[in-house]
Amino acid sequence: NPPSDCPPDVEALGRGTWTLLHSIAASYPESPSMSQQSDLLSFVKLFSKLYPCWVCAEDFRTYIGREVPKVESRDNFGKWLCGAHNDVNRKLGKPEFDCSRWQERWRTGWKDGRCD
Ligand code: FAD
Repeated sequence: NPPSDCPPDVEALGRGTWTLLHSIAASYPESPSMSQQSDLLSFVKLFSKLYPCWVCAEDFRTYIGREVPKVESRDNFGKWLCGAHNDVNRKLGKPEFDCSRWQERWRTGWKDGRCD
């Protein structure tokens, strides 16, 4: 691995970006207003045009076309995003994540208390 003060490669960029995206899901309201829903949808669409790994962005746009982003609640968005991340995991041969546990990973910490 290159030193951490070098420009990010696709892996480092991806790890940092997933942290941001899942954290946005974790802090999204359970009952968002119409304007919060439209902001999140706009963000996802603009993100898919600007993400600075162009093949990644293109595949992400294809995913959005196939699976419309669910922005009507925190849990719906978190599960949709988990599905998007699993789509990339499958493509890269990484293990799939159990989307019923996305809040434990990104919001509450695991039920076994290891994050407390
Ligand atoms: P990451 O995949 O970065 O995951 C970080 C952590 O998230 C994991 O340790 C795990 O705890 C958790 N996690 C894993 N899966 C899920 C899930 N489904 N839901 C919630 N949490 C989960 N790389 C490429 O080489 N080609 C691509 O086309 C490509 N497309 C990408 C598209 C997007 C939109 C993004 C954000 C990244 C993309 N990447 C791509 C990068 C790739 O997804 C990984 O980030 C990178 O390979 C580093 O992987 P990692 O093993 O460190 O874990």
